[in-house]
Amino acid sequence: MRVVIVGDGPGGVELAKRLSGDFEVTIVDKEGLPYYSKPMLSHYIAGFVDEKALFPYSAEWYERKGIDLRLGVEAKIIDRARNVLVTSKGNIPYDVLVLATGARAREPSIPGREHILTLRTFDDAKMIKERLEGEGEITVLGGGFIGLELAGNVAKAGYSVKLIHRSKNLLRLDEELSEKLQEKLEEVGVGFHLEANLLKADKNGVETDKGYIPGRLKVCAFGVVPNKELALRSGIHAGRGIFIDAGLRTSAKDIYAIGDCAEYSGTICGTAKTAVEHAKILANLLREQDNHYDFSFCSALFKFADLNVALIGRTKGEGRWLDEKTKVFYKDEKPIGAVVLGDVRRAMEVEKAIREGLL
Ligand code: FAD
Repeated sequence: MRVVIVGDGPGGVELAKRLSGDFEVTIVDKEGLPYYSKPMLSHYIAGFVDEKALFPYSAEWYERKGIDLRLGVEAKIIDRARNVLVTSKGNIPYDVLVLATGARAREPSIPGREHILTLRTFDDAKMIKERLEGEGEITVLGGGFIGLELAGNVAKAGYSVKLIHRSKNLLRLDEELSEKLQEKLEEVGVGFHLEANLLKADKNGVETDKGYIPGRLKVCAFGVVPNKELALRSGIHAGRGIFIDAGLRTSAKDIYAIGDCAEYSGTICGTAKTAVEHAKILANLLREQDNHYDFSFCSALFKFADLNVALIGRTKGEGRWLDEKTKVFYKDEKPIGAVVLGDVRRAMEVEKAIREGLL
């Protein structure tokens, strides 16, 4: 069976890895680079790892696995009547097509946008690293996970870091958890400007409703926009992302979507961990094993400076501390999620316990 995957991110590469040997697997990606780790990009910018560490799989690895990797190839449209993917470098027939097209950085929409960089790709990271080494300081716009990772790592490396965020709470967590993250990041030197709305940017800084904040290098981390255009052009239904069911099927026959581009009943998971989990489930489904993804329970693992933070399931509402690292959230007295600080193993145990109803 020929499986063609669009996108060589964590979702696409994990699926290819799991199908290789038993299926004829092709990956196309418009970037000219093999898979690299996006969660490691801010470690690379800070100088903690070198370029090589970002690229775990060599061209030989893909070859050994029997994966036909086609880089620098953009998928243009799907000819669904003929089961053919039309690309910038020719047509590729498929039996199953998987859209793992991910997402792109959300661009700021304020005047002076041209003075602000975004971070999604290796090229973005390279440019930010070069500028950072020249300027010695950075202003991060946005207190989501990408902003916090970048700010934490770069501050830990000794650069001067400001973080501007429009609300009081980071990561949309409750006040108590947000304050704990803020404290940890302040310990490594991140300077916070909270509840500040951006008005405009210029070469030397940004204007906010709390005043002018100087800083020549500005990186915006305002979240992401799912890459759904290929699906839409091909007549596949999409909203914010590409609509899928719990079996990761799109509205079109033999076409699936996984990872950051996929939307299930209003939910886009949006993390590397979940993209990999989708890939595992899809690999099982394509082997005709029964499986489905529980979208009410997306989870993620981040590292902000030295603090590992796991967000498990729903992390809003009524929360109680189980121990000093673990805050569990409840609905009608039933655990629906948790935040675990500083302990990856504990996070895995808590996630398993909540999923299995043992907590
Ligand atoms: P992506 O990784 O976005 O890959 C999609 C690929 O599809 C891209 O290579 C793109 O070039 C290709 N593509 C798109 N359209 C086409 C087309 N038409 N034709 C050909 N190719 C196409 N997640 C975590 O869980 N933990 C973290 O700590 C974490 N840190 C992060 C830090 C940074 C700086 C960033 C940017 C992200 C981070 N994430 C983290 C998020 C995580 O990287 C994403 O959720 C994950 O990469 C999504 O995987 P994906 O396979 O769905 O898509």
